[in-house]
Amino acid sequence: MRALSQCLRKSATEAEMKIRLSAGSALVLGLGHGRCDVLPTTAYVMCGDGCVRSCAFCSQSRVSHTGRDDLLSRVTWPEHDADTILQALEADVSGRVRRVCLQVVDAPGVLETVHRLVKSIKSVRPDLPVCVSASAYGMAEVQLLLESGADRVSLPIDAASERVYRLCKSGSYTRTVRLLVDAARAFPGRIATHIIVGLGETEHEMALCFQHMADEGIGIGLFAFTPVRGTSMQHVSAPKLSTYRVAQVVLYLITRGYARANEFQYSKDGSIRMFHRPWNEVRMLIAPRAFETSGCPDCNRPYYNERPGDVPYNYPRPLSEDEYNEALELVYSRLEEVCSSY
Ligand code: SF4
Repeated sequence: MRALSQCLRKSATEAEMKIRLSAGSALVLGLGHGRCDVLPTTAYVMCGDGCVRSCAFCSQSRVSHTGRDDLLSRVTWPEHDADTILQALEADVSGRVRRVCLQVVDAPGVLETVHRLVKSIKSVRPDLPVCVSASAYGMAEVQLLLESGADRVSLPIDAASERVYRLCKSGSYTRTVRLLVDAARAFPGRIATHIIVGLGETEHEMALCFQHMADEGIGIGLFAFTPVRGTSMQHVSAPKLSTYRVAQVVLYLITRGYARANEFQYSKDGSIRMFHRPWNEVRMLIAPRAFETSGCPDCNRPYYNERPGDVPYNYPRPLSEDEYNEALELVYSRLEEVCSSY
């Protein structure tokens, strides 16, 4: 373990890089206290702080003033040193961890340390898949992350369209999508992205974005916009649950190959009026899995976007029959609402 520790402390910049575990991950690894109804099946590690980007929704953004650097979405991320995390992963007292996800803040020099961290994790737990969610700027960085042992790299676009991207993110939507596509073609099955529902996109834009990603073999992790105090979007409301349920169904139908985005019927404002077939046929296609957390295998992200006790946007566990029927009911009521308003 000492060798790993030395490996992780090669330079002053790297020594300064903060490493944090989500509160639930700390709990599952025996490094935290408290209780949680549903525990994560992935250990979520945040690397670095002081993001150079200016995403309007993100607590880590350089334009946010949350007064806390241990927040991402509504999750708290206590700081731990790398050795402690590696030892905990090696021991895995709960036996529940099936993946490690490194969520990388875009800070100078952070990726070099992330490469080393991935290698260290793989050396103590070669059986554990590791994914890295990061803002890579080019193919060379993606390749390096994969070569260091990551099984997947996620390049989050967050916004479902260029229009929405311009409203809430810095950088170039076109360049990010180009990199995603190039990387997915070069490394099939190993590239993913994150998309957030509720940033101001229409359902039509969302469906087209899902279709593009699915056609290129890019995995999609779906998130709900979560207003965080101190961010530029703190006063924007979270999406309605029915809106999110529709997005989950769209994602499910498209990624399972049941339908294409251009087969759905849209209202003038871009809302879905009807799927590709009448609802009584479509509902037979939708499995309860459609409403569970989407993304990498074994990524369940409990309470990432919702408070304990709320009906979750993403179910971090299998749904009961009642929950499944309620989710379907919400989708139907949303379609009815759109149809009756035109
Ligand atoms: S889908 Fe989950 S495990 Fe995969 S990169 Fe996103 S947050 Fe991490």
